[in-house]
This record gives sequence, structure tokens and C-alpha cells, in this order.
Amino acid sequence: MEAKYRIDFNESNVLESVTYTLVSEYNLKPNVLRADIGGDGSGFMLLSVIGDCDDVTLGMNHLRELGFKVKELTGHISHDYNRCWSCGACVSLCPTRSIYHDRDTAEVKLNTRTCIACGACINACSVKAIQLEL
Ligand code: SF4
Ligand code: SF4
Repeated sequence: MEAKYRIDFNESNVLESVTYTLVSEYNLKPNVLRADIGGDGSGFMLLSVIGDCDDVTLGMNHLRELGFKVKELTGHISHDYNRCWSCGACVSLCPTRSIYHDRDTAEVKLNTRTCIACGACINACSVKAIQLEL
């Protein structure tokens, strides 16, 4: 199975190696889609994890025990191209660059393969062209 997570950390657990732990102790294949850390040591990581379902559950529970805040990202995003007028307000908010300006047409498009349904783009859209479907 593949699942996607947002993992928040703070200065007390930032040094814990999330990906190393998931690989070495739970035989998972993690892929960091985006990570961001602030000057105070807090931050977040968007992670795709591939592996056995039970191992994924155990690995994420272990991270929670270490003090990480772990949230599974579910659902998917729909982009209504009839409503969208490619204003670009949503583009810079996307942590995985899944909503982007097409270089040739300048139209805003959605890459559903890389979108993790985090919802960061939704409120930016004044015409409600982006919807989260659960
Ligand atoms: S929900 Fe929006 S902001 Fe989040 S990854 Fe998908 S396109 Fe990007
Ligand atoms: S904010 Fe809405 S209208 Fe503007 S580019 Fe994004 S989806 Fe299209």
C-alpha cells in the first residue's frame, strides 16, 4: 500500500531520523515530498510511504510515540477547468507543486499523481474551482 502523511515536529524531536526509522525498523519505503523547518526547530514533512499495511500503521504509531504529530492525508482534489480562470492564486501555496502554470499555455493545471490532497490551495480560489472530495 501507499499512504501519505503530514508529520509535524518541534525542537524536541527534530533530530529524530524519521525516514531512517521507517526504513530500518519497519521495512518501509518513505519518500519526502516536501520538508520545511523554521528557525525555532519546528517544521513539517510531507511523506509518501510504501509498504505492508500493518508495517505502515506500526511505523506511524512509533513516530507518534516519539512525539511527532502524524496526520494521514486522504481524499483527492478535483479541479474544475470550466470555472478556473488561471489567476494563479493557488499555485504558490502548493507544497508539492502539483498545481502549476502550464509553460506553453499559461493555464493552471493539476497533476493528480503528485497531489497529496493537503487542501492548502482550496481557500485561495475565489471561484471554488478546487474541491476536496473525501
Ligand atoms: S491539495 Fe492543492 S495544495 Fe495540496 S498538494 Fe494538492 S494541489 Fe497542492
Ligand atoms: S485560484 Fe482558482 S481560479 Fe485561480 S488558478 Fe487556482 S483554481 Fe484557477
